[in-house]
Amino acid sequence: MAGIGGGLAGLAVANYLLAKGLKVTLFESKNAAGGVQNTDQTDHRPGLVCNYRETNVPQSLMTFSDFQWPEGTSLFSKNITVKQYMQQYANQHMRE
Ligand SMILES: Cc1cc2nc3c(=O)[nH]c(=O)nc-3n(C[C@H](O)[C@H](O)[C@H](O)COP(=O)(O)OP(=O)(O)OC[C@H]3O[C@@H](n4cnc5c(N)ncnc54)[C@H](O)[C@@H]3O)c2cc1C
Repeated sequence: MAGIGGGLAGLAVANYLLAKGLKVTLFESKNAAGGVQNTDQTDHRPGLVCNYRETNVPQSLMTFSDFQWPEGTSLFSKNITVKQYMQQYANQHMRE
């Protein structure tokens, strides 16, 4: 099966299908997973999340059920933390 996009939705769906034993290829047009969270300070396109921005929902509601946040993560994390969390999730569950 093929999926388009390494954002939250694509990562969750790909991991679900992998767990069901299917072979999955996830295509991502950017350099890495993370979706709208995968930004850097030089990227000012509208709709992208700034590096210093904090989440507007608590991390407990943004948790992959099979992958915990690092110990000590703030309730409302900065974008860089969310980006790292998603990329670690992708690295642990999938390979490039
Ligand atoms: C400014 C902002 C702040 C937000 N804050 C929060 C928050 O605090 N807490 C929260 O829970 N949610 C927040 N959200 C919402 C959350 O980011 C979205 O719900 C989530 O990103 C949706 O995930 P997605 O995988 O559907 O889409 P995206 O994150 O947009 O990922 C889509 C991916 O698909 C890739 N892609 C697109 N087209 C192609 C193609 N043709 N080929 C290959 N790859 C492709 C893109 O590069 C991207 O990586 C925020 C959203 C925004 C915009």
